[in-house]
Amino acid sequence: MDSDSARHQVLSDPDSGSGSSATVDLDAVAHNVRVLLEYAGSAATMVVVKADGYNHGGTAVARAALAAGAQELGVTTVGEAVALRRAGITAPILSWLHRPDTDFVPAVVHGVELGLSSAPQVSAVAAAARTAERTADITLKIDTGLNRNGVAIGDLDEVFRILGSAVADGSVRLRGMFSHLACADVPGHPANDRQAQVLRDTVARASAAGLRPEVVHLANSAATLTRPDLHFDMVRPGIAVYGLSPIPELGGFGLRPVMTVSATIALVKKVRAGEGVSYGHTWTAERDTVVGLVPMGYADGVRRNLSGRFDVSIGGRRFSSVGRICMDQFMIDLGPDGGGVAEGDTAVLFGSGEGGGPLAQEWADSLDTIHYEVVTGIGGRARRRYIGGAGVEAASAAAESGPSKPDAVANGEVGR
Ligand SMILES: *Cc1c(COP(=O)(O)O)cnc(C)c1O
Repeated sequence: MDSDSARHQVLSDPDSGSGSSATVDLDAVAHNVRVLLEYAGSAATMVVVKADGYNHGGTAVARAALAAGAQELGVTTVGEAVALRRAGITAPILSWLHRPDTDFVPAVVHGVELGLSSAPQVSAVAAAARTAERTADITLKIDTGLNRNGVAIGDLDEVFRILGSAVADGSVRLRGMFSHLACADVPGHPANDRQAQVLRDTVARASAAGLRPEVVHLANSAATLTRPDLHFDMVRPGIAVYGLSPIPELGGFGLRPVMTVSATIALVKKVRAGEGVSYGHTWTAERDTVVGLVPMGYADGVRRNLSGRFDVSIGGRRFSSVGRICMDQFMIDLGPDGGGVAEGDTAVLFGSGEGGGPLAQEWADSLDTIHYEVVTGIGGRARRRYIGGAGVEAASAAAESGPSKPDAVANGEVGR
């Protein structure tokens, strides 16, 4: 095939894209869940798969986490919860962020537990339960000091009154009460103890009003790993499931990063000393060198502010980004000898850190943000691929579509 027809084939096949991918290691998810179960001790574990599993694929992560022993799932919206049900997931799912016009009927019909933050939400869910002719499971979200979502303490009496009558007429069941910490990443912060005490006081007030939640929960990843005294009945880790430490200063807690972002080197070329590279010529070669083109850019989540401030790893060696990151591409300096890198080689942008490879945390440090934003920001043309989790995926594929094809499924690519 001559190079023109080869190029045509690439361009005419929308799936071949730019060769960039986000590889999600479902075995790492299972490992991290087992680590978290250990920390959780006697508390149950709800794995948070909001924002499409922190952009790792909510359904695949949910299956892997449940297979590894997690008991429940948490998401923000009813839409996310119903999508998990439609994928065949039967484990308890809690959804806790709703628009004023949310239709709760599908949630009730699908047996999704609703985390509610106001009296109007309780009324709306009770009405939806009557429409669906099913009891709705609800969990009150209590604002114990984050001052974000959740029932304000001043509104508790009204919420308890409306909830009390909905419980009495059988339209709702009070499954739980929960809250969310403002400063969990600083384990000794006094706000953590204050919030826990407000939660305990609120449970006592509910109890005095005849409302007894079956489960109480407060801890996110950071509190799961560092504040066993705040575990209550269940913990709700998110970021740790994806292998990223919620408190990097305290170490990795034995977690394994789940997402590896990589791309294929598209072009390798020589640049002479004194020549500028990429827009604005913000970087000039000090010596004759060789540069490589990585076909990912800010449209794929490689933030422009990272220009010249991060490395990629190719064959176990690190190479620096040079010049501006563009919409679809950036350049790396391979050194005068070209570093042994050839077109078609794979560059890892961040991943497991194995062999000294780059980590999402390094991007977070360079960007003055947190790794949560780094992994959720990868998108554009990067294709999501799953590795590991063979047993889980094969079993669920068999349940959904008859004959199981373990290899195809375990290593299957899912367009995104
Ligand atoms: C996102 C979220 C979590 C998980 O937080 P991590 O810091 O990712 O562990 C837990 N609970 C609630 C209410 C959340 O919104």
